[in-house]
Amino acid sequence: MEAIQSLRGMVDLLPVQTPLWQRIEATAREHFRRAAIGEIRTPLLEATELFARGIGEATDVVGKEMYTFLDRGDRSCTLRPEGTASVVRAAIEHGLLAQGPQRLWYGGPMFRYERPQKGRQRQFHQIGVELLGVADATSDAEAIAVAWDLLADLGVDGLELEINSLGTNDDRVRYRSELVAWLQAHHDQLDADSQQRIATNPLRVLDSKNPATQALLSGAPTLADALAGESHERFAQVRQALEELGIPFVLNPRLVRGLDYYGHTAFEITSSQLGAQATVCGGGRYDGLVEQLGGPPTAAVGWALGLERLVLLLSQAGTMASEAAVPDLYVISRGGAAERLALGLCRQGRQAGLVVERDPSGAAFGKQFKRADRSGALWAAVVGEEEAAEGAVVLKHLRDPQQQDRRLPSGAVLELLAKA
Ligand code: ATP
Ligand code: MG
Repeated sequence: MEAIQSLRGMVDLLPVQTPLWQRIEATAREHFRRAAIGEIRTPLLEATELFARGIGEATDVVGKEMYTFLDRGDRSCTLRPEGTASVVRAAIEHGLLAQGPQRLWYGGPMFRYERPQKGRQRQFHQIGVELLGVADATSDAEAIAVAWDLLADLGVDGLELEINSLGTNDDRVRYRSELVAWLQAHHDQLDADSQQRIATNPLRVLDSKNPATQALLSGAPTLADALAGESHERFAQVRQALEELGIPFVLNPRLVRGLDYYGHTAFEITSSQLGAQATVCGGGRYDGLVEQLGGPPTAAVGWALGLERLVLLLSQAGTMASEAAVPDLYVISRGGAAERLALGLCRQGRQAGLVVERDPSGAAFGKQFKRADRSGALWAAVVGEEEAAEGAVVLKHLRDPQQQDRRLPSGAVLELLAKA
């Protein structure tokens, strides 16, 4: 029969890969703990309306990337393409915002129907932070610092923090008309995608991945020129806070995020080692979103970090080689009674906190020894029929030929290993 394969863009993570993922997750958890950021877990499936309203109908994500379907009750459901809308929904639904500012993080799979390529999948993973109910410019810098320090601690080099200010709604309305006029004047030189966006979502043209369009845009009016004095002032405060924290950044006047809810600070952390998919982490301020989703007016700032791209960077750098669990003890046995004794020994070892692997093959001892050796274990415990009859075990040091094999009552093995 033909074997069934995973869906396009849906990726398995095998045991040789997961140690690196676990290390990243553990490091992130520790950083969030120290920053007093609590974990929130929301469903993978939400009402389609949440993303349509939250992210914006004219975005790529909502327009063409969502996994949307009708459930058996004819409700339109969508597999979450990002985390922020769900976190905000949950915060509103559970009245968290009435309890003061919320410092939240989430992690897990996201789903976008995109063309799969290196660093771009249809199921991918993000961890993200959302600080809800914080309006001050220092909170923007704090959110950025949490991401920056996490990446530094993980040992990712060569990262660049790019920041921009998207200003207020009024700023963007003013800028939009300037930009549209300019885009219309350069209509023929734009790629087809960008030409379409002039009408639907002109600011998104700035985010075009087309190199020719990007080159052309260097002559376009920038948001910075359209910002009102207060927006300028706010952006200056964010930059000053970053400078005082010693976090280097570059200004990118064309940085706009893919989601419509951002205003004021927008940022991306990028790496030139990732090719076209350069952004590892992106985020910014989204003061309007909570209200837009039916909650009280709430200032907020947050970010999301793509784990696949982070893993690519760490594997390219050769840092943190995989560290599959090496057993402390490898248990070899042959024959019914011996296998039962071995099983009990394994369980006791695990209860005592040791990493214990059991060879269940019943194969010749020579074969089992080879596997024990390959496992990297320090010790092998061998139970043959004779040993089983006596309740004994032969303990063999696998890495030091000087050490003599020892025949012990099975109960004594763990004691000895605990001391070794
Ligand atoms: P891009 O411009 O690369 O499509 P985006 O602006 O759509 O990214 P966000 O929605 O801001 O990305 O998501 C934050 C991060 O999640 C990205 O910077 C990236 O690291 C990661 N990410 C987004 N989409 C994917 C995907 N399809 N596959 C893998 N990682 C992704
Ligand atoms: Mg995208």
